[in-house]
Amino acid sequence: MTKRIAVYPGTFDPLTLGHLDIIRRGAHLADTLVIGVTTNPSKEPMFAVAERLAMVKREVDGIPGNIDVVEFDSLLMDFAEAQGAAMILRGLRAVADFEYEFQMAGMNQQLNDDIETVFLMADVSLQPIASKLVKEIARYGGNIEKFVPPAVAADVKRHLSRG
Ligand code: ADP
Repeated sequence: MTKRIAVYPGTFDPLTLGHLDIIRRGAHLADTLVIGVTTNPSKEPMFAVAERLAMVKREVDGIPGNIDVVEFDSLLMDFAEAQGAAMILRGLRAVADFEYEFQMAGMNQQLNDDIETVFLMADVSLQPIASKLVKEIARYGGNIEKFVPPAVAADVKRHLSRG
């Protein structure tokens, strides 16, 4: 039987407990989960892609399943195809995510109808978490330890103190 490969793409700037919950669920669902870390310069990320790649690798270590962490800088469908993926995983939070995700899944379906977009929901307690808000809270000196793993909270603090 062919192995079912899933790609979970994102910016992960920084990786949150919401992302990790989706990763756990995805790794359970697929034979191999490929986490695609986008360079995404248009979003002007806080962390360089090499830092985000290292952060994700460190935090998924120990999660059961076959998990690869790969940087990508191409069209998502081209990346998914090159990885031999049967599906793309996205996390759905609130209604606010829906419109963008709906549109993206629809357009991706037209680019390659053999790769399904599958939506997963994080644990209810983790659903409000967003990288963007984590960064905002941290910039104002708030405590982000409820939203990200301890080492990521330290990474963010270190980054902000560097200025
Ligand atoms: P992108 O820049 O592609 O939106 P993100 O790193 O922000 O990348 O998110 C990657 C994926 O994880 C997206 O599908 C996003 O909806 C999902 N996600 C992020 N945070 C959560 C959360 N708290 N619960 C569920 N899904 C989430």
